[in-house]
Amino acid sequence: MDDSKYDLVVIGGGPAGYAAAMRAIDFGKRVCLVEKAKVGGAGVYNGALSSKTLWELSQRVKNVNETIVSLGRKPFEISWKEVKKTLDEATFERKFQYSCHIKLLKNQRKDLFSYIRGYGKILSPTKVAINRTRDSEEILLETDNIIIATGSSPRKIHNIEVDESIIMTSDGIESLEDYPKSLVIVGAGVIGCEYATIFSNFGKTKVYLIDRANRILPFEDEDISEIVSKNLEKRGVTIHHDAQLDRMQIVNGEVEYEITCDGKKEIIRVERALLSVGRESNYTNIGLEAVGIKKGENNRHIGDDDTRTNIPNIYAVGDVSGHIALVNMGEIEGRHAVEKIFENKQTRISYDNVCTIMFLEPEVAAVGVNEQYCIENNIPCKVVKLDYSIMARAIAMRKTQGFFKIIVQNDAEMKILGMRAVGEHASSAIEAVALLIKMEKGIGELAELVHPHPSIVEGVQECVRMLMNKSIFKASVFKDKLECYSLVDGVKTPLQRL
Ligand SMILES: Cc1cc2nc3c(=O)[nH]c(=O)nc-3n(C[C@H](O)[C@H](O)[C@H](O)COP(=O)(O)OP(=O)(O)OC[C@H]3O[C@@H](n4cnc5c(N)ncnc54)[C@H](O)[C@@H]3O)c2cc1C
Repeated sequence: MDDSKYDLVVIGGGPAGYAAAMRAIDFGKRVCLVEKAKVGGAGVYNGALSSKTLWELSQRVKNVNETIVSLGRKPFEISWKEVKKTLDEATFERKFQYSCHIKLLKNQRKDLFSYIRGYGKILSPTKVAINRTRDSEEILLETDNIIIATGSSPRKIHNIEVDESIIMTSDGIESLEDYPKSLVIVGAGVIGCEYATIFSNFGKTKVYLIDRANRILPFEDEDISEIVSKNLEKRGVTIHHDAQLDRMQIVNGEVEYEITCDGKKEIIRVERALLSVGRESNYTNIGLEAVGIKKGENNRHIGDDDTRTNIPNIYAVGDVSGHIALVNMGEIEGRHAVEKIFENKQTRISYDNVCTIMFLEPEVAAVGVNEQYCIENNIPCKVVKLDYSIMARAIAMRKTQGFFKIIVQNDAEMKILGMRAVGEHASSAIEAVALLIKMEKGIGELAELVHPHPSIVEGVQECVRMLMNKSIFKASVFKDKLECYSLVDGVKTPLQRL
């Protein structure tokens, strides 16, 4: 067998590329996975797994402190060295799994699977060159198909020099050697707010958050922004709303930045800065020009037709393709592209009902549309909202801050359009609803399920019962905890309940 001839070459071994390569093996196809740095990409390092490890640890520190401070004791602290140790252990565990998996698979199926560490570049629709810095040897591969899964990198801001030590992006923040005494985060989107939550939870850093809009997380409903904002502020985070960042530079080893808020200019000095203003697709210098691959709108990404590029045998998946930048979506796209290649799959990927979690304080889980979207797009709907304080499990956890909000069609069938869960274990409640949305089912199915008690998911059931006018607690009695209304032409009308 010719060692350099493949059915598929995948460039990039992050979640999207790895999932694609593994799916190709299921079809009995010869696949070569090419990765220039570390398998796992931003799914593991300076990204999803690492930031979630920090979030989990910081939540524990915060939870302990909430309890013991109320008993009048000194706050519990852990050193950055201990934080770093936990972080390294988590990423190492995942790295070890990937390397064992690759090694064993290479032995088991050497007829099908190859892995090459090196920089992949497309030379023609059927040729990929791999440059290996270690031995500067270039390897040439022939292939029937190519999947580009080269991911994304943090976006920089014009005129702000990033040294990844004092002014950092998410690529540098985990290399800190100690907690910064003060940190400014530029950008109040999901990642910016996650890091603000993490550092304020540890309680060792004064955090500033620069928000160019009038509220953080502007793509979510106002009640979500409000609860997250309040919690950040309670932990000492200063949020500069409606702020324009005029200047940021390193002065005497610190960060000096100038902002304009409400027409007033302010100059602030902090120890470190984190830029969190989105990500850019990694598509430069991978040979797009050699084969004439077109870029998408505003040159932001490549391959915008259901994972296909304009070259029939070349596909693009994951962050580089510019869709929803999440590990789960990257994996779905990677697998989907392979199924299109080897199985001629005809159905398209749906991006409508993707489940997401935002690791904030509290946790926010989402699926489908929110209220804001229904108003902006004139979608008549019914909305039911239930406060966490009404749920037995939340009471038992002593974590009663948060709510469930379910949005259904404004008709008798009441098909579910979306849900937001904000609070402890919020993500565990979203799955059942996501499944119903996918199956295009109405809410009736949920009302009759028997849930374990006490569980957070019981709250979903009570929401559904409210919509069906058969809830255990009545909205007319607990007006501050239960709400049910229709939303037509942007007008909110309470649904009359007993
Ligand atoms: C701070 C942060 C937190 C996040 N949190 C979450 C979360 O909680 N949940 C979630 O679902 N998602 C999260 N994400 C997003 C998630 O990490 C990405 O969407 C996901 O990693 C994208 O996968 P990918 O395979 O497309 O790209 P990447 O993970 O970026 O992987 C691309 C890989 O390609 C390699 N590569 C690039 N060019 C070449 C080349 N020419 N040759 C060979 N190899 C190459 C890179 O080295 C890299 O390993 C987070 C991201 C960040 C930055």
